[in-house]
Amino acid sequence: MKSIAIFCGSNDGALSAYREHAIALGHELANRGITLIYGGASVGLMGAVADAVLEKGGNVIGILPHFLQTREIAHKHLTELIVVDSMHERKAKMAEMSDGFIVLPGGPGTMEEYFEIFTWAQLGLHEKPCGLMNIEHYYDPLVALFDQMANQRFMQQKYREMVIVDTTPEGILDQFAHYKHPSVKTYLTEDRT
Ligand code: AMP
Repeated sequence: MKSIAIFCGSNDGALSAYREHAIALGHELANRGITLIYGGASVGLMGAVADAVLEKGGNVIGILPHFLQTREIAHKHLTELIVVDSMHERKAKMAEMSDGFIVLPGGPGTMEEYFEIFTWAQLGLHEKPCGLMNIEHYYDPLVALFDQMANQRFMQQKYREMVIVDTTPEGILDQFAHYKHPSVKTYLTEDRT
């Protein structure tokens, strides 16, 4: 993998562990020579992961819509900052430039980005892995909801298996290395594998 997009909070969250793990993830990406693609902000976990990659001499590409340049406070020291016109353009570019996606704890914006990329994978629009970094059990309720979706047959089991969850950067990246994309989504009822 050459580049990975990170989706995460523009806030730090309540526990110091969130920031500590964001930093560990940034260091791991830099050590493996993987370019970080992210939202371009200097604040919250977004800023923490970018700073950690840069600190270890890694490459960081930020993609920020111009209307957020002051609100999310654009990071001033990135390898490259790409300024785009809209949120749609930002997400499309992040998706196109990355070989996989890692989700750290975050709020509604993070969830929106995760679900869009996850559902694009279900639709076969890309075949890249998406992993949740489950720091301090933050994503336990979301994992339980995925189980509920599969148990109640709103999600096929093969897509439930696309949900990669781990507590460490190494664990997620190792799962990415073995990732096999399922066959493309069909709405035919007999395909329940
Ligand atoms: P949050 O998780 O809410 O702190 O947001 C994290 C990132 O998601 C920030 O860079 C936001 O700009 C971005 N974001 C917020 N709302 C949306 C949205 N509707 N679509 C895409 N990205 C969003």
